[in-house]
Amino acid sequence: MVPVVMPTYARADLAFERGEGAYLFATDGRRFLDFGSGVAVTSLGHCHPKLVEALRAQAGKLWHCSNLYRVPGQEKVAAKLVANTFADTAFFCNSGAEAMECAIKMARKYHHASGNPQRNRIICAEGAFHGRTLATVAAGGQKKHMEGFDPVMDGFDHVPYGNLNALRDAITPQTAAILVEPVQGEGGIIPGDPDYLRRLRATADEFGLLLIFDEVQTGMGRTGSLFAHQQAGVTPDIMGVAKGLGGGFPVGACLATEAAARGMTAGTHGSTFGGNPLAMAAAEAVLDVMLEPGFMAGVQAKAQQLRTRLDTLCGRFPAVIELVRGQGLMIGLKARVPNTELQARLMANGLLTVGAGDNVVRLLPPLIIGETEMDEAIQILSRTLSEVSP
Ligand SMILES: *Cc1c(COP(=O)(O)O)cnc(C)c1O
Repeated sequence: MVPVVMPTYARADLAFERGEGAYLFATDGRRFLDFGSGVAVTSLGHCHPKLVEALRAQAGKLWHCSNLYRVPGQEKVAAKLVANTFADTAFFCNSGAEAMECAIKMARKYHHASGNPQRNRIICAEGAFHGRTLATVAAGGQKKHMEGFDPVMDGFDHVPYGNLNALRDAITPQTAAILVEPVQGEGGIIPGDPDYLRRLRATADEFGLLLIFDEVQTGMGRTGSLFAHQQAGVTPDIMGVAKGLGGGFPVGACLATEAAARGMTAGTHGSTFGGNPLAMAAAEAVLDVMLEPGFMAGVQAKAQQLRTRLDTLCGRFPAVIELVRGQGLMIGLKARVPNTELQARLMANGLLTVGAGDNVVRLLPPLIIGETEMDEAIQILSRTLSEVSP
């Protein structure tokens, strides 16, 4: 008999009842150090006092009113995002896939509004991940996500990630936009070279294309700056944001320049729940914490410290870990043993991680970790690598 919860996930037999900072407490009483953060979502840790207070206060006032009215929380969060990014305007939704759907629709609409409706194809990268809706699985291009869901949505062309020549060769009079993740997440924590990202910008400008960055996973401080592309000195025209934006409350956003959003007029797009007052209270609190002076510098310092320690540790186990890669607190350990096995061992020893493509174990600790959590993580990793070592 089918489980009452549809079995679309291969779940670990583990349930949690409480979270506090970087720790999760299971229903069986065990305590875990959470270096998965619900896949890069709870970036300020569990039950951050400022987030709890913001939600509590909003919960007693207003939960939902619909986008038929002005939502002051959206105006505040959008103003903060606009003030701290390339963007002029933001659309609020509830997830990463929806943020990317909006980005895809906006790119097509932009060319339609500019008198070039034939420009409706988007060049994407192999190994990409943009969500699980029909459009975003087509944009991701992964066979395992599309199998059995034919017909695949048309309008996406794929080239190898990091290869500018292949991308330029794929441009046709029908091309509307280029879409990449600044660091491929699900694909295996593969950082895009800053020079590659800058050349994507130049190429987009040369051919009149829009540049779309999917920062659903890399955004909100994960890589050591509010958004990853800011470190490469390049700006997109459109950007999808979600995961860390609400600190655990489901919320997404699609940011854009005024020019890129020119076609997105009243009636062109919508969402019943998108940007509701509860979501906006959470997002505003997250942004307030992350935009405090010194917060990102602190993340960078911690990331560097953790990375140095991981490089040293993993260097001692070349038979288990092939290499360490990533940016900021978005770190991948490319394993020589099955990543699922390594993850299970880490979990048994009290450390939660997330798998990724290319046999990678992802470390996505909350941005609020301190010396204690880093020490504990290194200790558990050290013990686990010794156990697994042949
Ligand atoms: C997780 C993710 C998505 C999809 O987000 P959902 O909230 O699961 O829809 C899209 N793009 C990237 C890069 C992601 O990591």
